[in-house]
Amino acid sequence: MCSVGVPAYICLMAPDVTFWGTRGSIPTSGPEFAASGGDTSCVLVGLRDHVVILDAGTGIRRAGESLEDDARDIILVLSHPHWDHIQGFPFFAPLYQKGRRITLVAPNHPHWLDLLVGQIDGIRFPVTKDFLSCTLEFSTDLDDALRPTGISASQINTNHSGDGLGYRLTIGRRSMVYLTDNELLPPSPATTSLAEFAHFCAGADLLIHDAQYVSDDLPDKAGWGHSTARQVIDLALAASVSRVALFHHDPATTDCELAERAASWRTRLEVRGIELVVATDGLSLIL
Ligand SMILES: [Zn+2]
Repeated sequence: MCSVGVPAYICLMAPDVTFWGTRGSIPTSGPEFAASGGDTSCVLVGLRDHVVILDAGTGIRRAGESLEDDARDIILVLSHPHWDHIQGFPFFAPLYQKGRRITLVAPNHPHWLDLLVGQIDGIRFPVTKDFLSCTLEFSTDLDDALRPTGISASQINTNHSGDGLGYRLTIGRRSMVYLTDNELLPPSPATTSLAEFAHFCAGADLLIHDAQYVSDDLPDKAGWGHSTARQVIDLALAASVSRVALFHHDPATTDCELAERAASWRTRLEVRGIELVVATDGLSLIL
């Protein structure tokens, strides 16, 4: 042990969190999105011997490139199988690396893995699963899949179609929450209440949350399964997290609009000691 209750192999390397895809719904491109990027959901958590990847949106292509000369085992955890969270999977280069160990995890939802891997069928993608060279394992048991990493995890149902899940990962003494595709205040009865989300996120070092909309998008987009930036700020305050990252940006939201959004909320958070981050493709943080 390198400190009280923390195994040495966790302490040797501070976990890093890299956003490889931060858009929601569909990839986007164009000069007005150049700074924030246009790839869909993919977040990589790097440990000494393992890499945990959250979602396989189009951002996973570049995540895979970053791992090309890296022998760490990979554990890919899905939040849900909507298109923007699985579309990049066939382009994940480690799938085609001999000797690479990859575990795919869909807690309680084995059919998600069929939807993920089933894309590589020679019809929707040029080659079939026979071309995969890695050692691929499948799991519906989050604890079991993450046990070799030393991470302890919990999950929560999101307010979103497709039976989505959010995750809290505790790595040594640090913790992060990944809550994407989640409508904090849906018009219909919520699967999970705001109070339950605040409890789930309480005291986290990093909260990554879907902030696809702004207040002007309501009421037209109420019930579409996403949150406004203001709702995410309120959750960060209620949960007293240390840092909150706005994530899953609408494909039409420009770099300028994201900057304005951050500027308008930053002061309110800073007086409570909470750092605001706008997640952008390629951004790395130390947890
Ligand atoms: Zn979704």
